[in-house]
Amino acid sequence: MMRPSSQKARAAARSLRRALGSAFSDRIEDRICYSFDATDFRFLPDAVAWPRGVPDVVELVRTAGAAGLPVVPRGAGTGYTGGSVPVEGGIVLSFERMARILAVDARNRVAVVEPGVVNDDLRNAVASLGLTYPPDPASLKVSTIGGNVAESAGGPKTVLHGTTRDYVVGLEFVLADGSIVLTGVLAAPRRGWDGAPLFTGSEGTLAIVTKVALRLTERPRSFATLWAEFPSLEQAASAVAAITAAGLPVGVLEILDGETYACAHEYVRGCRPERACEGALLIELEGTGESVADGASRVAALVSAEGARGVREASDEEEREEIWAIRRSVSPALARLGAAKINEDIAVPRSAIPAYVRTMREVSANLRLPILAFGHAGDGNLHVNIMLEKGSPAEFERARKAVGRLFEAAVSMGGALSGEHGIGITKAEHLASELSPVALDLTARVKRALDPEDTLNPGKILTTTPNPWWSLSCGERSESGGDDSEAAAC
Ligand SMILES: Cc1cc2nc3c(=O)[nH]c(=O)nc-3n(C[C@H](O)[C@H](O)[C@H](O)COP(=O)(O)OP(=O)(O)OC[C@H]3O[C@@H](n4cnc5c(N)ncnc54)[C@H](O)[C@@H]3O)c2cc1C
Repeated sequence: MMRPSSQKARAAARSLRRALGSAFSDRIEDRICYSFDATDFRFLPDAVAWPRGVPDVVELVRTAGAAGLPVVPRGAGTGYTGGSVPVEGGIVLSFERMARILAVDARNRVAVVEPGVVNDDLRNAVASLGLTYPPDPASLKVSTIGGNVAESAGGPKTVLHGTTRDYVVGLEFVLADGSIVLTGVLAAPRRGWDGAPLFTGSEGTLAIVTKVALRLTERPRSFATLWAEFPSLEQAASAVAAITAAGLPVGVLEILDGETYACAHEYVRGCRPERACEGALLIELEGTGESVADGASRVAALVSAEGARGVREASDEEEREEIWAIRRSVSPALARLGAAKINEDIAVPRSAIPAYVRTMREVSANLRLPILAFGHAGDGNLHVNIMLEKGSPAEFERARKAVGRLFEAAVSMGGALSGEHGIGITKAEHLASELSPVALDLTARVKRALDPEDTLNPGKILTTTPNPWWSLSCGERSESGGDDSEAAAC
């Protein structure tokens, strides 16, 4: 896309200020606040808008498109692949003001929400009806349904319940030319075509989601929550493969390596665990009282046979929460280590997890970099975290090699670059290792057909621009989008 002259951009800004009033800003303070996400890469947008409804979104897309300005949709900015970072400048569309639960149809178990609704707020809103919304990214208290749909977010419950994709039954979205499309249960009269699967997981590059219809399910009544500790991570990984092969109906199957567990334990309880443990599993079954009790004893027997030294089952809700607190604290606990952290969420078939863990150990030893692992193992989704010192160019060079080898291993084992975080800007340079040339070309043709001027979230997924990590010096992640000299301020 040819980006506009500053004169054209200024004219578009004047027009949007007139049309949107306080829902539009090109003040530097606002631009800085919306220049980064959880990756902490910083690219300054030209402006920020907080649409109040679909007409605002249409106005923004049309005006920005006509001026050649990119439009970057944004939820809560918790994305781990830079999806909502405006790498080519333009206007960030933040959905804080479109955050209403529009309807809950308990009889048909469907909720209709605006994209800015926070994931956990929806779950809390339907709990009193005996219903729940299962997709539960660890960021659930902050991340939005719009962001979850755009990434098809998963979470600990994915193993039994699937990802966001499995719950989207209707969408309203705005295309790059400003036309509004309704699909699935939101389309009236309902016809055969359902566009939701194409747009779910498209990372804001094909359309802007303005309304989502989501399937709800019955709230499970009983849980059995187990914590199992192993002398090695490999044994914990083998237990995952064994539980999967046995077909046990686990709802959650999370793995943590010893160091990750120790950090999370310290974060929650103020001290490291008394007993050394190199791998741990959090396993949860859900259903009726009888079925979970039976499942729990089978799981306990199986993990013991796989070498677990300590298996503990939560005896009440308080103990269940204690176990979950460890898992939920992993991200903040690792962030406290102070090192720069490259977090990649590869996926492999569950039977390949033990082999992947061995490869990860080899990469770590060969490149002399600590690599910590945790994640939704029941879904084959491992978060591999390369820990490195800030300010060491040599470590950064080795980390780059490590990322390449970890991706290569995942793909060669029949897996994928991402289990849930998407491609964004951080994995784009590796996409050709996962997709065939035909699949890449098809993806590019779909993008061109829907967004010929590359207005929506440009510079993501199909880009040859390397991960910004590698062009920066040693963990200082500030860059500028557009050609604005004030960008240096961020
Ligand atoms: C501590 C932590 C834990 C996490 N745990 C998980 C996890 O367990 N599982 C998981 O899947 N992810 C996880 N993530 C990653 C992240 O939370 C998810 O990707 C989440 O779906 C992003 O939602 P968001 O609202 O923050 O979106 P953002 O980060 O703001 O945006 C993400 C993408 O969505 C697009 N987008 C946003 N709104 C719209 C819209 N209305 N229309 C079109 N596109 C839109 C953006 O352009 C961008 O490409 C975690 C992140 C953190 C920081």
